[in-house]
Amino acid sequence: MLPQQVITAKREGEALTREQIDAFVAGLVAGDSRVARKPAAAAESLGWTDAQAAALAMAIVCRGMDGAETLALTQAMAHSGQVLDWRAAGFDGPVLDKHSTGGVGDKVSLMLAPLLAAAGADAGVIVPMVSGRGLGHTGGTLDKLEALPGYKVDPPARKLQRALREAGCAIFGASDGIAPADRRLYAIRDVTGTVESVPLITASILSKKLAAGLSALVLDVKVGSGGMMRSLPAARVLARSLVEVAGAAGLPARALITDMDRVLGTSAGNALEVQEALDFLTGRAREPRLQAVTLALAAQALQLGGVAAELAGARQRVQAALESGAAAERFARMVAALGGPRDVLRAPGLATAPVQRDVPAPHAGHVAQIDVRALGMVVVALGGGRRHGGERIDPRVGLTHLAVPRQAVLAGQALARVHAADESAAAAATAAVQAAYVLGEGEAPAGARATPVVHEVLP
Ligand code: URA
Repeated sequence: MLPQQVITAKREGEALTREQIDAFVAGLVAGDSRVARKPAAAAESLGWTDAQAAALAMAIVCRGMDGAETLALTQAMAHSGQVLDWRAAGFDGPVLDKHSTGGVGDKVSLMLAPLLAAAGADAGVIVPMVSGRGLGHTGGTLDKLEALPGYKVDPPARKLQRALREAGCAIFGASDGIAPADRRLYAIRDVTGTVESVPLITASILSKKLAAGLSALVLDVKVGSGGMMRSLPAARVLARSLVEVAGAAGLPARALITDMDRVLGTSAGNALEVQEALDFLTGRAREPRLQAVTLALAAQALQLGGVAAELAGARQRVQAALESGAAAERFARMVAALGGPRDVLRAPGLATAPVQRDVPAPHAGHVAQIDVRALGMVVVALGGGRRHGGERIDPRVGLTHLAVPRQAVLAGQALARVHAADESAAAAATAAVQAAYVLGEGEAPAGARATPVVHEVLP
């Protein structure tokens, strides 16, 4: 089957057959010069060029895919490489995980993985959390963990299994062997304006999760100015697609649609977010909205994974794991097992930025709106994210003490605190933070309520 036949069929609005989709995915692997040992299906296939893969991706963006096509693409990409088998490795409890569509200040994974491991320890829960790097304006869990001196995000299999045995959780990066077709297609989509497509996003996210050998998955679909989806209806479409396709592929999944019209928690930036996660786990400080999202995702995952029959029971387990310090203890064990500080709860060894200055409000008023995407880009510009692949990250930089929607401010009062490598970066960030905050006159209108942090749970 020639690539151009498949591309033309989709261009004309036809639904692709499973054979056509399999040929595309095998062609992605066969045409990938980085995959040295190709699986049998790919070895016999015609390699697709970047141009052909981009043309099909664009045809899918324009013409869409139905549920059956999305499922076929997801399954083909999931099986384009290695599929992890935890039972064969000696783990026979529920294998749980979470995926977030990405946000600013979203450090939930850092707390959720040890929380689930602690709350489900008696049921043998493990959380092998395959995580990613920062993308665009959003932060990445691996970049955050690398703020801890020595932490290895790509441990050899033996070390990874030891971490899972000792801590019940491990946060690490996908090896080259996991869903290689998605890795290639995503890189092509990233530079060809073809990221924004519900079937392509669904297949991309779920292929990696299916390959990770999970037994249940919770999804955090972010909506708002800092999220992948800007409106609630659009977030619902993506959430529904993810839950339905995961279910059809045999992976029980539930999605929470959560607010990204403000930074989640009190900080954005790599070391700063790790510190916030440590404060959360040890009880030094727990920002209420961050706590609400984290505990809701944890309870849903435990119930979905069969650890608790009812949501109320799952919530009790999670609360107990947090309050007893068991979750904090598991985080510490995971960090130590993966090469990080031996006593991360007391001595995390996080570097701090040399310049820290408050951003003054240009006039008095109340916080009417926040461009959260712009705040994410402030962190990137400070050096906390990448403008192009391969750039080094400065773990020290970012934002804290962020003013929240409806908050009253006086002229000159702080909207945020900038953590920067030098004075000129701090000055640029100060101006950009001021531009990201829209201040209304006087007080916030009476009756205007805070947006809920968890909008909906599907199904
Ligand atoms: N995250 C992914 O892994 N894939 C997408 O397509 C979008 C976000």
